[in-house]
Amino acid sequence: MVYDAIIIGAGVTGSAVARYLMRYRAKVLVVERASDVCEGTSKANSAIVHAGFDAETGSLMAKYNVQGSEMMEALSKELDFAYDRCGSLVVCLSEEDLPKLQALYENGVKNGVRDLRIIGREELLEMEPNISDNAVAALYAPTGAIVCPFELTISLAENAAVNGAEFRFNTEVREIKENAGGGFTVKTSEGDFETRAVVNAAGVYADIFHNQIAEPKIHITPRKGEYLLLDHTAYGHVTHTIFQLPGQYGKGVLVSPTVHKNILVGPTANDIDNPEGVNTTAAGLAEVMEKSALAVKNVPTRQTITSFAGLRAHEDGHEFVIGEAEGHPGFFDCAGIESPGLSSAPAIGEVVSDMIAQRLGLSENKDFTGKRKGIVKAAELSVSERNELIRREPAYGQIICRCESVSEGEILDAIRRPLGATTLDGVKRRVRAGMGRCQAGFCSPRVMEILARELHRDLSEITKKGPDSPIIVGTAKDTIE
Ligand SMILES: Cc1cc2nc3c(=O)[nH]c(=O)nc-3n(C[C@H](O)[C@H](O)[C@H](O)COP(=O)(O)OP(=O)(O)OC[C@H]3O[C@@H](n4cnc5c(N)ncnc54)[C@H](O)[C@@H]3O)c2cc1C
Repeated sequence: MVYDAIIIGAGVTGSAVARYLMRYRAKVLVVERASDVCEGTSKANSAIVHAGFDAETGSLMAKYNVQGSEMMEALSKELDFAYDRCGSLVVCLSEEDLPKLQALYENGVKNGVRDLRIIGREELLEMEPNISDNAVAALYAPTGAIVCPFELTISLAENAAVNGAEFRFNTEVREIKENAGGGFTVKTSEGDFETRAVVNAAGVYADIFHNQIAEPKIHITPRKGEYLLLDHTAYGHVTHTIFQLPGQYGKGVLVSPTVHKNILVGPTANDIDNPEGVNTTAAGLAEVMEKSALAVKNVPTRQTITSFAGLRAHEDGHEFVIGEAEGHPGFFDCAGIESPGLSSAPAIGEVVSDMIAQRLGLSENKDFTGKRKGIVKAAELSVSERNELIRREPAYGQIICRCESVSEGEILDAIRRPLGATTLDGVKRRVRAGMGRCQAGFCSPRVMEILARELHRDLSEITKKGPDSPIIVGTAKDTIE
C-alpha cells in the first residue's frame, strides 16, 4: 500500500496538517514515536494565542500567527476545545522604554493585528489592579487569547482520525529515502512505509529529517522554557496575559490565566543540547519568580501545584521553515516551529495541506466532517442537566478526581473515543484527572483501574506515558523476599 502522505509527528503542527488534509480524498498516515498525541512541545508551552504584534513584519511567523489567531475562535467552536479571548498586555516598566512600546505597536499594525492600542498607567491599573508600581504604560491587544493546548492538539488529531487518517503510535521514524521514480520510503522502528509525500513535523528533531532530504541544511537548538503552575486559588490575580516589554530589565516572563482557571508563570529561555531535557531546575524556577515580580505584585507563587518545562524548536534563522523543499517534490517541511507555533497551527495546517493537495492532484473529500463534539464536562453543567446525565449514565455520578471534579463517565469517554487515552497522562490531558492540587495523588490508582478494565489489560501494564514509564514495578511481597 502506498500512502498519499505520511506525517512525522503528532504534535499540534502534524495534527493540524492531518486534519486539514482530510478535506481532500487522501490516504494519510501520522507516525508518532510517543504513545499518544501531544507528547512533545505541544504539551508544555504558555498556551497563548498570540495576537501577532511581536514577529518581524513579512516573516512566515508573523503571517501565520495573525492568520492562525484569526482562525482559532471559529475552530474552537467547530472542534469544541477551550478558548478564551482574555486579551494581552505588554507592560512597559520604565519611561525610557516607551519608544520600544511604540515600535511594538507599529510592528503589530504592520502585521495586520486588529484593535491594538497603547494604554496609560491609570487604565492599566483599572484592568489589572495587581500590576507593578513601576508599570508606566502597556500595549493592549484585545485579540490575544488563551487556549487548552492539549484539547487543541487532541481535537485536531481526533477529527483527522474520524475523517479517515491513520495514526501509528510508539513508532519512531529512523530515515526517509527519496525513491528514484518519485515518492519516499519512510523507515521506522516498526517497518518501512511507502508514500507519495512526507510532512516533516518532528518538532525539535525536524532538522534531522530536513537534512536527510533537503538543502540548505538547517539546525535546530532546543531552547528550554521553565514554568510554575499555580492553583485555582490564585485565579483572578491577573485577568489578561501579562507580558513584559523586553527592555532594561531583560526579556521578562509572563503571568497569565489559563482556560482551566489556574495561573501560569514563566517561561525562561535557555539553549540546551539535550532534545529530551524537559527537567525543571532550581535556578530556572527562581528566575521565573524573580522576573514575574517585576511586572505583577505579590504573584502567589506559594500556591504552586507543579512546575514543568518545554523545548522550543529554535532554528538558527529564527523563522518557520515551511513548504516543499526545492528539487524534492513531495517533501514538505514544518520545521523550526517555535513560538508562535501553537497560535499558527490552524494556518500552517491549512496552507501545507493545500500545497500537498496541489502537488498530488487530490480531489475534494465531500464526506469531510469538520465538526467534533468534545468530552462533556459534568462539573460545568447545571444541577438539573447533571442529574439528567447521571440518570442516563450513572458513571457521571462517580467522582474519580476530586480536585478537578472529574467523573468516571468522562474518563470512560476519554478512553473509548477515537484515538482514545491508553495511559494515565492520556486521561489527564483529555479530562484533567490528575491536573489539580494533589497532582494525581488520590486519583491515579482509580484511573489505572478504569484503564485496565477498559483496555482489558493487567493493572501492571498501565503506564504513565508509554512503554518506558511503568507505574507498578513489583509487588510488596517481591520486595520482602
Ligand atoms: C516554553 C515554550 C512556550 C511556548 N509558548 C507558546 C505560546 O504561548 N503560544 C504559541 O503559539 N506557541 C508557543 N510555543 C510554541 C509551541 O508550543 C510550538 O510551536 C508547538 O507546540 C510545536 O508543535 P509541533 O507539533 O511542531 O512540535 P511537537 O509538539 O514537539 O511535536 C513533534 C512530534 O514529533 C514527534 N517525533 C519527533 N521525532 C520523531 C520521530 N523520529 N518519529 C516519530 N515521531 C517523532 C515527537 O514525539 C512529537 O510528538 C511555546 C513553546 C515553548 C517551548
